[in-house]
Amino acid sequence: MANFVDDLLRIDRKHLWHPYTSMTDPLAVYPVRSARGAVLTLEDGTRLIDGMSSWWSAIHGYNVPEINAAMEQQIGEFSHVMFGGLTHRPAVGVAERLLDITPSSLNHVFLSDSGSIAVEVALKMAVQYWIADGKPEKSKMAVLRGGYHGDTFATMALADPENGMHVLFNDHLAHHFFIPRPACKFGQQWDPSTMEPLQQLLDKSHDGIAALVLEPVVQGAGGIYFYHPNFLQEARKLCDRYNVLLIADEVATGFGRTGELFGCNHANISPDILCVGKALTGGAVTLAATVTTTTVAETISSYGDGALMHGPTFMGNPLACSAANASIDLLLSSPWRQRVHGIEDGLSRGLAPCREFDSVRDLRVLGAIGVVEMVHPVDLATIEPMFVEHGVWVRPFGRLIYLMPPFIISDDELEQLTSAVVKVVASLSC
Ligand SMILES: *Cc1c(COP(=O)(O)O)cnc(C)c1O
Repeated sequence: MANFVDDLLRIDRKHLWHPYTSMTDPLAVYPVRSARGAVLTLEDGTRLIDGMSSWWSAIHGYNVPEINAAMEQQIGEFSHVMFGGLTHRPAVGVAERLLDITPSSLNHVFLSDSGSIAVEVALKMAVQYWIADGKPEKSKMAVLRGGYHGDTFATMALADPENGMHVLFNDHLAHHFFIPRPACKFGQQWDPSTMEPLQQLLDKSHDGIAALVLEPVVQGAGGIYFYHPNFLQEARKLCDRYNVLLIADEVATGFGRTGELFGCNHANISPDILCVGKALTGGAVTLAATVTTTTVAETISSYGDGALMHGPTFMGNPLACSAANASIDLLLSSPWRQRVHGIEDGLSRGLAPCREFDSVRDLRVLGAIGVVEMVHPVDLATIEPMFVEHGVWVRPFGRLIYLMPPFIISDDELEQLTSAVVKVVASLSC
């Protein structure tokens, strides 16, 4: 047993890249044997309470009977067929459900494999829309600094060109128009001057802008920042006034994480294009979707041969769609709103002691997301083993130690998570 695990780790270390890591000097990785509910079990039997939902996705926890059953049934029928010229119940089911729960003006669904691709498709829709409308010069994006929209070349170009993860590639990326992230935070008194940078940009450059791209209310991997929902309402009005499409990237915020089903719901707005991914299948398997209005779809289809020029090999994968359908049904039939508010309370209460430490710059909680922002970046190599020692799975990045547990986490488990964070922050502070 021990030998098997040693071999596994040796081969992993020698040959496998992990996300954002060096091949020659990788950080430690922990071998998972099984996962159930809100607990990951390692090969040596160590149980870790999951504070990450595997990057926003495992909202129902792991090994979810309803999702497993749906996938098993689908495997018995077929796992995949091409989507060119064929269709099937699982894909139609996803379209029906998404159109049911996303803002009402959205009417058409493009299925893809991952969040990055869903955003790529959104960008492509926006550019094709303006070509079809006879304004091909409207081809750049307006983007909020501090966002994250994916790792492909088109989506890296939407990351902050100064502080983002992808500055290394700046010379190879498309140039867009950036404005500061909304200065008015969630929960603060609304300050109308928050809109000035967007207003000025659109006033000056709307002739060259296809769309405003943003993560509604919560910026995720770019810094986990919560901004005032009024920004979305006002941005919607400005986009209408200046003839600019609004793309809402809800890959992280979708499916209840922020306390509303979608980030846009905080402001009661409807974007022209909305992207989902991550929690779409409850984290069981990868799937994403780009949803748009009839106006956008019909305009694109009115030009040339009318085709939207995208078509991934695994488009509409039936197995992934069956998981998505089960996950959405499970979410909607669960008391998710209550659970998320309960987690919000538990995170606020449990993390509150962090405010006492000089090493902590800010503590913020929204929905099932809790963030302890440190004054200095944390060293993963030292902090990760400390969390594992405390029996929790937490994966900080930069200055951020954050929790976004599965919605089904118990009060006890949540308490263990927050007290582990407090203890680790305390020991970093002495
Ligand atoms: C994670 C994320 C993406 C990219 O999704 P992948 O599935 O990793 O390609 C895009 N946008 C946002 C807001 C995300 O959080």
